[in-house]
Amino acid sequence: MKKNIIFLGPPGSGKGTQSQRLSSFLGYPPPLVMGDILREAVKNKTPYGLKAKSFMERGELVPDGIIVEIIREKIFEPVYENGFILDGFPRTIRQAESLDKMLKEKNLDGSLLVVKIDLGEEEIIRRLTGRRVCSACGANYHIQFNRPKREGICDACGGKLIQRTDDMEETVRNRLKVYKELTEPLVDYYRKRGVLKEVNGTGEMDEVFKRILKAIQE
Ligand code: AMP
Repeated sequence: MKKNIIFLGPPGSGKGTQSQRLSSFLGYPPPLVMGDILREAVKNKTPYGLKAKSFMERGELVPDGIIVEIIREKIFEPVYENGFILDGFPRTIRQAESLDKMLKEKNLDGSLLVVKIDLGEEEIIRRLTGRRVCSACGANYHIQFNRPKREGICDACGGKLIQRTDDMEETVRNRLKVYKELTEPLVDYYRKRGVLKEVNGTGEMDEVFKRILKAIQE
């Protein structure tokens, strides 16, 4: 049985990039990225999106009830039958407990593996406040570490690069506070179950990816 993999770590730790890489490397379907699912819902003004919008703009967590409903609809789609990778879910103990319950219902308890990426606070702030995303295709750039060929323009599709409103410094600080209070307790939750793999997230993308592969193969 393929493992179901959760990526855990503060915003800006590289979960998105690394989870995507891991999914193609291991032949999984693309990761389920909770932040992307929510941003899409907001853009399309769906009922979930309308409820989630203001929480997201403030850098706060969207209420557990909404998140759990969304994930329940997704993870049992046939495409994830042989394993899924989650990025940005669970983010609270209640969400983790709900996930456990869902997996148990399907006799999938025991299938989890959790990859936690560690990164210091100042590095996170530098990464997130410098991040720019393409408004058309969602590609990621950084004003210092991953500059586009033409300033403000996406290399891949020519779209306009923007800063996510929740990547402004004040909101980033709030997201980190929320992470510490509500999400960090999950580290212990999964450590106690013996399913946690901790990976140092500093340095080049390739280096971090190698560490992840090593950790999950142990
Ligand atoms: P992200 O792109 O992962 O940083 O997510 C962006 C925003 O979406 C977060 O700041 C939250 O407002 C919301 N969000 C994403 N995932 C969750 C979750 N599992 N629970 C609650 N809110 C979430």
